[in-house]
Amino acid sequence: MIRPGSTLGILGGGQLGRMIAMAAAQLGLRTHIFAPEENSPAFDVAGEHTIASYEDEAALVHFAKSVDVVTYEFENVPSATADILSAHAPLAPNAQALAVSQDRFLEKSFISGLGIETAPFAPVENEAELAEALAAIGRPSVLKTRRFGYDGKGQIMIRPGDDPAAAFEAIGRSPAILEGFVSFEREVSVVAARAKDGDFAAYDLCENEHRSHILDITRVPADVRPETEEQAVLIAQKIANALDYVGVLAVELFLVRENGQERLVVNEIAPRVHNSGHWTLGGAETSQFEQHVRAVCGWPLGATARLGRVEMRNLIGHDADEWERILAEPGAHLHLYGKAEARSGRKMGHVTRIFAEKP
Ligand code: AMP
Repeated sequence: MIRPGSTLGILGGGQLGRMIAMAAAQLGLRTHIFAPEENSPAFDVAGEHTIASYEDEAALVHFAKSVDVVTYEFENVPSATADILSAHAPLAPNAQALAVSQDRFLEKSFISGLGIETAPFAPVENEAELAEALAAIGRPSVLKTRRFGYDGKGQIMIRPGDDPAAAFEAIGRSPAILEGFVSFEREVSVVAARAKDGDFAAYDLCENEHRSHILDITRVPADVRPETEEQAVLIAQKIANALDYVGVLAVELFLVRENGQERLVVNEIAPRVHNSGHWTLGGAETSQFEQHVRAVCGWPLGATARLGRVEMRNLIGHDADEWERILAEPGAHLHLYGKAEARSGRKMGHVTRIFAEKP
């Protein structure tokens, strides 16, 4: 039984780890962050931190022994790292959630194996397999590296007339997956939590708008039919149950409109708190960060009710220079991540605006 006063270990020192640590502190927990980068944003708000590589076995064992439960803020935790940690402390979400979500081929195979729709896909290891996959899936299609892709990195469209060999070259000839292009109307996501006892709670469906492949704005509620939202939540629950998942997860989906009907196609899952759930900090009864802490500690989940119509905007690069103007705006809730340098494309903070719901 984990009690207030226990220590939560967090792998990864970015803004997600930082906001998990802040939620943990609110509930009387201590935190210990493990991250390789000096000056990680989460170090500022945690009682303890370790700077070491994710391959440093001695440092991982020392870290795991010093905490009561370990969680993480990113899905690319190497499986050997997860194995070392879970030998010395409970790890939540579990290693299977990591394995499935860090490899796009395993991920899509797992999801479609549950009877949930994804884009058509095929694994690609070489030019011959790419030719076969293109013949089966057609164009336009998207070639993505199986691992380490994020924010549109490690992927390239193959349109009619494009040279497949050049596309394969462009993604570094890495093991890949070819996906059929989904002609979606909008992108939506479900942020939800599953507790140790199987209890499941989802936030309202979010609608996400991207700019240069990076999340720009999340709006809640999503403008979809109630049946569509219900289906999205059932999809997330099915995935969470199948993984025996504990913690917050996000499921990103494409909303396709065809003959006046709405259809959902799963794009990917994130076994962690998610940028499209930042609106819950102030916009819902329980933030996704608190919910994650509750779940990984084996505590009851909190209420997920929304407190109004919410808009969350990311502050990317120099957007954060506007901090004084945002502070002066009534009703704007500013969150800055404490990053020293505003590089372009870098998530520096976010701002949440909550409006009264239309009657
Ligand atoms: P991902 O890294 O898989 O989240 O992809 C990044 C973005 O590329 C998504 O948010 C979509 O906007 C777009 N995208 C990815 N896969 C597809 C697809 N199969 N069809 C259409 N658009 C896609």
